[in-house]
Amino acid sequence: MFNSGLITALSKHETPFYYYDLDLLAQTLDAAKQASAELGFHVHYALKANFNERLLKHVLEAGFGADCVSGNEVKKAIDIGFDPTKIVFAGVGKSDKEITFALSQNIFAFNVESIQELHIIDQLAANQGKKASVALRINPNVDAQTHHYITTGLDENKFGIAHWELADAIEALRSCPHIELIGIHFHIGSQITDLNVFKSLCVKVNELNNWFDERGFRLKVLNVGGGLGVDYHEPDARPIPDFKSYFTVFSDFLERKAGQEVHFELGRALVSQCGSLVSRVLYVKNGIKKNFLILDAGMTELMRPALYQAYHHIQKLSPVPAGTTKDQVHYDVVGPICESSDCFGKEVQLAPSERGDLIAIRTAGAYGEVMASHYNLRNEIRYVYSDQL
Ligand SMILES: *Cc1c(COP(=O)(O)O)cnc(C)c1O
Repeated sequence: MFNSGLITALSKHETPFYYYDLDLLAQTLDAAKQASAELGFHVHYALKANFNERLLKHVLEAGFGADCVSGNEVKKAIDIGFDPTKIVFAGVGKSDKEITFALSQNIFAFNVESIQELHIIDQLAANQGKKASVALRINPNVDAQTHHYITTGLDENKFGIAHWELADAIEALRSCPHIELIGIHFHIGSQITDLNVFKSLCVKVNELNNWFDERGFRLKVLNVGGGLGVDYHEPDARPIPDFKSYFTVFSDFLERKAGQEVHFELGRALVSQCGSLVSRVLYVKNGIKKNFLILDAGMTELMRPALYQAYHHIQKLSPVPAGTTKDQVHYDVVGPICESSDCFGKEVQLAPSERGDLIAIRTAGAYGEVMASHYNLRNEIRYVYSDQL
């Protein structure tokens, strides 16, 4: 992806910044669109992965809906131009203000995460003389086989309604005249690379689909969430996730009843690979036990490594000067922030590097820029798009 022309163009920009390859984004969205459309599936983009406006506009053009986890995300999606009838709203802690706003916009569905929330939405909908469309987020107790910080569908997680509460949920629904149950919703975690996990999810969805059917609820929507992983280790070998295999699992294993729609909420898989964090080496510290590359980007620009020990491929962009050794050196690649967890990678093999070298931290398009913080009173995050160079 980083050819010498691109590297020269990038080296003119003040670092650190996010670089977004909009062509790769368009190709990725197109691949997901085609694979889902063939099977008649509906895809909502999870805004929380990246709500950079240029990216959102591409997602909108591709025809996806939006999956939001805060009132401000609902507002952002609407401001960008997403059709409210394609917006879903999840989250364990929706405030009254957020619910009231989303109701006023007539969104497609609230993904409701507790029985108490059902009653609150019912009241707030009554205030507006409306009926809220709701999908129950059910915790299916399926292990996503991913990092425990990004697992959301186990009994021990805070998300969704547990299976032992479902009878009570149905009771609650019968006493909520301002709620219409349109479906069931699941989201079991993120960065899932083993498609068997999604087969297990389908089995649980089928059981629950039947359970509701037996109790007289005709569900229109089966929303299976997101979570499809990307290749952090070899971004150039697999720049676009295998959407076809992913969607095929659901078409093979989900038992849809007549007229039922299948909805997805993809975040990471759509935007990760198009983004890289570009940074410069500020200092090289050669120690006896360790060599440190100290970058001008830190956990304030990309928090994933500090937050959940996430791996990112680190690539030296600047060429090695002629006549110097190209033997690889092991570096701990760290940021400038006053925290020991501010480390992008330990024992990273790179060509010998020096002050001023340009470094790319790859696969940073999802959960990167959006998690940037002002800790240490750092600068506002900058970004550069491929069509601006
Ligand atoms: C975060 C989230 C998603 C998107 O997850 P990805 O792993 O980025 O695909 C989808 N649905 C809900 C409810 C989420 O919280």
